[in-house]
This record gives sequence, C-alpha cells and structure tokens, in this order.
Amino acid sequence: MPRPVCVNCQREMNVRRNGIGVLFYADWGPYQIYAADLYRCNNCGHEVTIGYSYKPISHFDQRFEKELVRLKKTRSPHRSPSISTVQISLSHR
Ligand SMILES: [Zn+2]
Repeated sequence: MPRPVCVNCQREMNVRRNGIGVLFYADWGPYQIYAADLYRCNNCGHEVTIGYSYKPISHFDQRFEKELVRLKKTRSPHRSPSISTVQISLSHR
C-alpha cells in the first residue's frame, strides 16, 4: 500500500508513530477511540492519521470513562480544539 502523499509538497509522508489512538467526540462528549498510525511530511511538517482499526479499540461505557482519564495524561501536544478528534498515546498498552 502506498504511503500518504503531502499535497502541498508532492512528497511521500513518513511514519512518525505506529499505534496511536484517535478519540472521536459525539455531541455529548468523548465517544470512541480507534487505533491508527501517524504520518508526517518531513518537508512541511503536515501530519495525518491513517490505517484505522476495523473497530474502535474502546467506546463509551463505564470502563471507557476510567480509561479516558488515564489516557488524557498522555495526550499529544498536537491537539486542536477546532477539530473533533485528538491523538492519544497508547504506549502504555
Ligand atoms: Zn509537505
């Protein structure tokens, strides 16, 4: 499978981290976490997540709330409040 291509630079992107978690929000709050890989353009620094797990690795229930509290301590500094997903390190797994 080809690597993702940066549209700005016309270059293939490189793996920055395998096995990150992407947290999706519903209207009422945190909902599901999917495993994914983080790719980065070495020229301009643009990053994307691809290669999502077929099913969420965690979703909203009582256990999810506890796991979320733990995972938030390792939240990526790349989080943007203007989008509905955040990247969370799963290195503890
Ligand atoms: Zn680029």
